[in-house]
Amino acid sequence: MPPYQHTITQEVRCSGIGLHSGLEVNLIIKPAPANTGIIFRRTDLPGKPSVPAHYKYITDTTLATTLGVGDASVATVEHLMAAFMGMGIDNALVEIDGPEVPSLDGSAAPFVLMLNKARPVKQREKRAYIRIIEPIQVRCEDKTLSIYPDNSLKITYSIDFNHPLIQQQSYSMTFSEETFCQEIANARTFGFLYEVQNLKENGFALGGSLDNAIVMDDSSILNEGGLRFENEFVRHKILDLLGDIALLGKPILGHIVVHKSGHALHHRLLQKIGIQTGRWVECAGFLGQHNPQPGVGYVNVVAPTAPF
Ligand SMILES: [Zn+2]
Repeated sequence: MPPYQHTITQEVRCSGIGLHSGLEVNLIIKPAPANTGIIFRRTDLPGKPSVPAHYKYITDTTLATTLGVGDASVATVEHLMAAFMGMGIDNALVEIDGPEVPSLDGSAAPFVLMLNKARPVKQREKRAYIRIIEPIQVRCEDKTLSIYPDNSLKITYSIDFNHPLIQQQSYSMTFSEETFCQEIANARTFGFLYEVQNLKENGFALGGSLDNAIVMDDSSILNEGGLRFENEFVRHKILDLLGDIALLGKPILGHIVVHKSGHALHHRLLQKIGIQTGRWVECAGFLGQHNPQPGVGYVNVVAPTAPF
């Protein structure tokens, strides 16, 4: 990943329905100055309130990640956030005229195409990274999420579903724009037919269909085209993780090892990273040989190779 911040050159837009709300929304992604981060703006609400894409503004993690400030909220941000991270876009303004990011095809691929079309551009300011120097772990029952020191961002993810088409799957990747686009971005969200009625009665998945999710009954996949990858499920779990990790606001360097996690545990990891400031350092630009001091803010280092 390049050491400088990036935004886009021209605005791009899309329309679609939210997976859970079922509401049609229009979304426009615009360029933003360096050090802005990703900012959502609810253009349908009085005063067009802003909602920063940062974990401190997470208000709900039930089935998706929702951000909110006051009465303004934006739900299901994770696939779009994963696309920003995957494409190395640090700064952008996302205008949205409804409460949920459109699900499009249930993956991050349509957002990657949009950001490509928007022509990413380098900015003058260096990108800051969060580099893990001591392990950090969160767990809940049999779900665990750990991050260990590493010079790049690596993910090792395993899932274990009591369903014949999923069962145990695991996948490892070293994050880069290329690996994200080729291995992760196309993986779609998934659900089970037996859950759909219950979800809809509780106000979820109202926009869910075979167009924006893999849906399975007891033994088969209902989508006509089948799966995009044999292990599309675990790949999508990595996509969700990356989208949530992007809410740190800075790329992270570490090896994330995950077993059966979800948005709520991702959120707890982000909070723990925020609290345990002695276990990471913030570094600007390229990373290389240095002796980081726990709790130190900025460390400017120049090294011959990129961290990703
Ligand atoms: Zn997802």
